[in-house]
Amino acid sequence: MSVDTKNIKDIITRMHQQKNGRENQMRKQLIFLGPPACGKGTQTNMLAEHLKLPHVDTGSLLRAEIKGETPNGIVAKSFIDKGLLVPVELVAKIIKDRLAQEDCRHGYILDGFPRSLEQAEALEAMNQELNGPEGSDFRAIYFDLDQDVLISRIVNRRSCSKCGEIYNIKTHPTKVEGICDKCGGELTQRKDDNEETAKARFDTYFHETAPLIDYYKNKGVLRTIDANGTIEEVWERLLEVIK
Ligand code: AMP
Repeated sequence: MSVDTKNIKDIITRMHQQKNGRENQMRKQLIFLGPPACGKGTQTNMLAEHLKLPHVDTGSLLRAEIKGETPNGIVAKSFIDKGLLVPVELVAKIIKDRLAQEDCRHGYILDGFPRSLEQAEALEAMNQELNGPEGSDFRAIYFDLDQDVLISRIVNRRSCSKCGEIYNIKTHPTKVEGICDKCGGELTQRKDDNEETAKARFDTYFHETAPLIDYYKNKGVLRTIDANGTIEEVWERLLEVIK
């Protein structure tokens, strides 16, 4: 029987290409930057579903610790209630444990971390450890939004206590008041979504988080999208930059 070696070589090359292609796709690591209430929670939820990647939402992880009254939760609460950043050691440990889970092996959508240069460096160290030598397709998506709409978005924001779906009582209300369209859960307002704490959160954002825009721009991984407009308009722009 004659063996067609060229054919076999072609098949092996194709298998490698397919495998590598999958690996590249799998290692999509997206982080999201933007001021409070810029809409990244809504968009990252949609994107996670679209890309079949886990949505790692730092704020929700911290709120779960608070709800569970864990030692981390008790410490976190005192900072969150004041609109301040939770200490880096605490939040980095929670994120590292989450990113090390099996479902993040093929990539992740990270929302709300990093929020300072110190956290960005911590994330880089984590990724190096988690990724090994292959590296990843890492991008930082910045949601650029007019500031005057942000406070009104915060005070009108509600989320489902069961599934986390986000609404706005003025611009994106539920069909039945107070009840989630998706799962029928009860809507709640976040404790830190009041005007006073919101102002402190903006202050924290401009001092601690905004410098990350230049940090990632200098690394050549920043993609900026105009986050003004409807959910659908922003979604279209987001799909363009993650291609
Ligand atoms: P968020 O749900 O993303 O608006 O976060 C709510 C609050 O959780 C923030 O105001 C901070 O107090 C805290 N928090 C969220 N992410 C971080 C982070 N990466 N580092 C420190 N604190 C955080």
